[in-house]
Amino acid sequence: MERPRLFCDSCGMRMEEAGDHGAGKRENPYCKNCCDAEGKLKPKELIREELVKFYIEKYDYPKAAAENFVDDFMSKMPAWQKKQETL
Ligand SMILES: [Zn+2]
Repeated sequence: MERPRLFCDSCGMRMEEAGDHGAGKRENPYCKNCCDAEGKLKPKELIREELVKFYIEKYDYPKAAAENFVDDFMSKMPAWQKKQETL
């Protein structure tokens, strides 16, 4: 048995309880923000957009800086390391 993941493989968000995981399932390696209602990972572009918006709103990043930050950050996440063909 693997231990449940604590951090989303896509955006790095900490997942405290089952409800924080996609579709409310602890074995889902992605958080609810990165998944659709069925617990499937959303398209990379969509998650990137949401993360960029998040950093602009929360940390007051200029748009270009937020995009650079998110691109760099996402390139290190397990969910996106394999597929670099988009963008
Ligand atoms: Zn996530």
